[in-house]
Amino acid sequence: MTKPIAVDGPAGAGKSTIAKNVAKKIDYIYVDTGAMYRAIALYLIRQGVDTNDEEKVSAAIKDIEVSLDYKDHEQIVLLNGENVNAFIRTPEVSKTTSLISKYGDVRTKLLDLQRNMAAKKNVIMDGRDIGTAVLPDAFLKVFLTASSEARAMRRYKELTEKGEDVNFDDIKRDVEARDYQDSHREIAPLKQAEDAVLVDSSDMGIEEVTDAICTLYQERIKA
Ligand code: C5P
Repeated sequence: MTKPIAVDGPAGAGKSTIAKNVAKKIDYIYVDTGAMYRAIALYLIRQGVDTNDEEKVSAAIKDIEVSLDYKDHEQIVLLNGENVNAFIRTPEVSKTTSLISKYGDVRTKLLDLQRNMAAKKNVIMDGRDIGTAVLPDAFLKVFLTASSEARAMRRYKELTEKGEDVNFDDIKRDVEARDYQDSHREIAPLKQAEDAVLVDSSDMGIEEVTDAICTLYQERIKA
């Protein structure tokens, strides 16, 4: 039996950085489910599909294949066999992803893939609905959050360090719009599972949060 860890929370709470760190420390595989939704959004943008039209989206995604591969501990998202890692982090893809991830057929397409991964290997999986819908029996569930101010500031710093000309208020607005969309959809909304441990990272550093999750894990193992 595997012992999966679910890490859910809003955009920019630090889920991916922290889950990656924890994975290294406890020798788990990190699975970024957001990247899978992003790959589908990228496909729809490339094909010029009207993403407000659920039926058109359902028809368009029928025959596409999204899968994951790993190289030097890095997750690679494959869209019909193409490595799309370099194309799925743009603001346009983020917005479209949040829009199309509310559709049932989109979620169903990825659900089995995610469950199969967790059944085969020890994974730490991050997303929005991992503890509530994908892996309701996860060994450990963490709900990682932070204030929208703190999350927007992290993204702002990340982008300005890359030399991008961005506006803090725009980023904060985007973060809040995504939070709203993700937590108000009908299917598998962003929500803390009842048995998840809440971690607020607003005033915590990456190392501190990583250690806190590793400690929770060790305590469960010993219990
Ligand atoms: O985690 P990330 O920001 O890459 O996720 C992008 C979008 O994918 C989220 O805003 C959300 O709409 C969607 N998502 C989801 N369920 C997941 C992971 C991501 O609906 N398990």
